[in-house]
Amino acid sequence: MEKVTEIFGSMVFDDLTMKASLSAETYIKLKKTIDEGAPLDLSVANAVAEAMKDWAIEKGATHFTHWFQPLTGVTAEKHDSFITPSTDGRVVMEFSGKELIKGEPDASSFPSGGIRATFEARGYTAWDPTSYAFVKGKTLYIPTAFCSYGGEALDKKTPLLRSMEVLNRQALRILRLFGNTDAKYVRTSVGAEQEYFLIDRKLYGKRKDLVFTGRTLFGSMPPKGQEMDDHYFGVINSRVAAYMEDLDNELWKLGIFAKTKHNEVAPAQHELAPIYTSTNIATDHNQLMMDVMQKVAERHDLVCLLHEKPFEGVNGSGKHNNWSISTDTGVNLLSPGDTPYENAQFLIFLCAVIKAVDDYQDLLRIAVASAGNDCRLGANEAPPAVVSMFLGDELTAIMDAIIDEKDYNASEKQIMKLGVDVLPKFPKDNTDRNRTSPFAYTGNKFEFRMLGSANSIACTNIMLNSAVAESLRIYADRLEKAEDFEEALHSLIRKTFKDHRRIIFNGNGYDDEWIKEAESRGLLNYRTTPDALPHLLDEKNVKMLTNLGVFSEIELQSRCEILLDNYNKTVLIEARTMTDMVNKQILPAVERFLAELSGTVNSKRQFNPDLECRYESRLIEKLSATADEIDSLNLELEQITAEGATYSDIIERAYYIRDHILPKMKELRTFCDEAEMMTAERFWPIPNYGYLLFLV
Ligand code: ADP
Ligand code: MG
Repeated sequence: MEKVTEIFGSMVFDDLTMKASLSAETYIKLKKTIDEGAPLDLSVANAVAEAMKDWAIEKGATHFTHWFQPLTGVTAEKHDSFITPSTDGRVVMEFSGKELIKGEPDASSFPSGGIRATFEARGYTAWDPTSYAFVKGKTLYIPTAFCSYGGEALDKKTPLLRSMEVLNRQALRILRLFGNTDAKYVRTSVGAEQEYFLIDRKLYGKRKDLVFTGRTLFGSMPPKGQEMDDHYFGVINSRVAAYMEDLDNELWKLGIFAKTKHNEVAPAQHELAPIYTSTNIATDHNQLMMDVMQKVAERHDLVCLLHEKPFEGVNGSGKHNNWSISTDTGVNLLSPGDTPYENAQFLIFLCAVIKAVDDYQDLLRIAVASAGNDCRLGANEAPPAVVSMFLGDELTAIMDAIIDEKDYNASEKQIMKLGVDVLPKFPKDNTDRNRTSPFAYTGNKFEFRMLGSANSIACTNIMLNSAVAESLRIYADRLEKAEDFEEALHSLIRKTFKDHRRIIFNGNGYDDEWIKEAESRGLLNYRTTPDALPHLLDEKNVKMLTNLGVFSEIELQSRCEILLDNYNKTVLIEARTMTDMVNKQILPAVERFLAELSGTVNSKRQFNPDLECRYESRLIEKLSATADEIDSLNLELEQITAEGATYSDIIERAYYIRDHILPKMKELRTFCDEAEMMTAERFWPIPNYGYLLFLV
């Protein structure tokens, strides 16, 4: 067994490797590009490419790829080999700075939402030096951004990098006002906890719904579900343990800080959490992690399901985005400090987040909207579709005292003023955790819990960074002009608390009462993807995102279109899969069982014509009626699915799907699940929930 410290990062062209393989001059120049975004000249790029290639070949690579994140939601790669013909008729291995910096994949099949006319179908990929290259399989992977020839972003990385930059700029303005001159940059960090299901590969292969849609479209609950709560943090069985061990190893080689693993609430459900890192890298790592999770599962005859709701009746899977802001000098700006002065600075950043979450609830909701996540939001233990924030009792009390201009601490008989000297000392560790809040403050970071397990975390962080940058921009504009800084600061903090008090909710977010109260507070409740997505183009959102330079208007339009189209296609595939399974598997199975029952009645009655055959008669009658019901619902579904495809307006189509197709699918499923309960197991054509959930 190799030591973890030795294998960690062994497949990554990381800082240590760069230092060892580049000349001091090249290394310093590259480092300047990585840390400060300084432009890179071609001679440096050539030297880096050469070193990268030699290192990759040593690790067994024969190919390289520009790895990027198009708007399909998964990652894309096209592999080119290093070989170049040499004069002696053989080959040499070559890789130039140009090839490192820029690629031109034929991009006509990636969704662009109308940005790219077909005559200029080419897009280009551009190296992102802030995320390390790595070797996976026999290929050197180079993280890249993906743009059209006009420069519009066709991917998720480009706007993410832009959003990090705008947050950096605005946060530095605030820090300077507090007299901080040594911070060179401010960055957000993310730790993304990932939930997933593991099921047996052979069983998976027998379910077209899982193969085509990633979730089960049928299946009645087995006698046992998650009611015993015996799976959460339970002992990990040996097959799963072997998988997790293998997975950790693969992730460590790729420099991913896989840290915590445990069983989740639902049977067959697990979680993996890495240690947090810079948002850009955390995003790449999360994509990579999802990919590796699935690959490693194959080796263990398992399938890793990343869908948000693979099984009805047990918990779905989410992803928690733990997010914080810190300086290059190591100060976490969301952590209360030791002195009142630091605390005033902490409060202004806290305010910026509160204001951002309240003003842009819709953008946060939109960032997690997908057909898959719609199956989960509001269900079982998951957060509802309402965005609210948890601050904990202590911080909320401070907030209320500031709003009311009352003492926070009754022993100090003076009005709390946020100048800098009279602020109370905050509790540093906030242990008061609320698991039901969609956006919870946990002592030094915020945890956003609405993301679906299959979502890229890029969208969430783009919106979060931008919205917070916008608050900070407004604050900095105000404070820079203020004659009395402390006075201005005080009134800014107080005004923010007052104006945005409604977004704070420390109670049980899964309670129905809360949904009613949230509505009376004027908080948004966009239940489904078609409810949420069109608001991406609301004037206030377009204005904020374009003013900051995170998106252009055309980029936003194209994204909205692609996301809606994705929703539409996903549900239509599900509907067609249902119809297919009903026609070819479920109804024929029910018929076979019915035939057997009728045959039994006939043979019994040959023996004695007067036999009642109550058991068979009851079942035949009930099951025949159910089969008829299934048949008519299925015909209706088939018909409305075809009709859904005729809506040319993408939003109209999404509404039709939401209002007609999804409810019909639900109805059809109910009858199919009843039929399953009545049919002898040996006739049922697809593995049931009991086997899927409990046989790993
Ligand atoms: P939980 O109780 O939700 O499991 P943990 O303390 O285990 O909380 O942390 C969950 C995730 O939050 C981990 O990925 C961890 O690395 C990350 N995390 C911890 N501190 C920070 C921070 N300051 N910024 C961003 N993420 C963080
Ligand atoms: Mg968590």
